Amino acid sequence: MIVLRLLLFALLIWILWRMIKKAFDESVEADEEDTNKSSHANNAIKQHQMIQCHYCGLYIPKEEAIHTQEGSFCCKEHAHLQKKD
Ligand SMILES: [Zn+2]
Repeated sequence: MIVLRLLLFALLIWILWRMIKKAFDESVEADEEDTNKSSHANNAIKQHQMIQCHYCGLYIPKEEAIHTQEGSFCCKEHAHLQKKD
């Protein structure tokens, strides 16, 4: 019975994954449409400028980054770790 439960669980995850993927694909397509049509596209890109975490190299939106004297970081932990080093 445990195997059956695992199979059901896997199926559930697969269905959820498909739904998430579909929703994500649709939102990406919508964004592309907006970029082509809208004259405000450049402003939107500027607002969502991506910067790299000084510690781990992860790309994050500029407004979500932690800005310190040492640089910009994806999270407080990495800003702290960089200070230590
Ligand atoms: Zn980081």
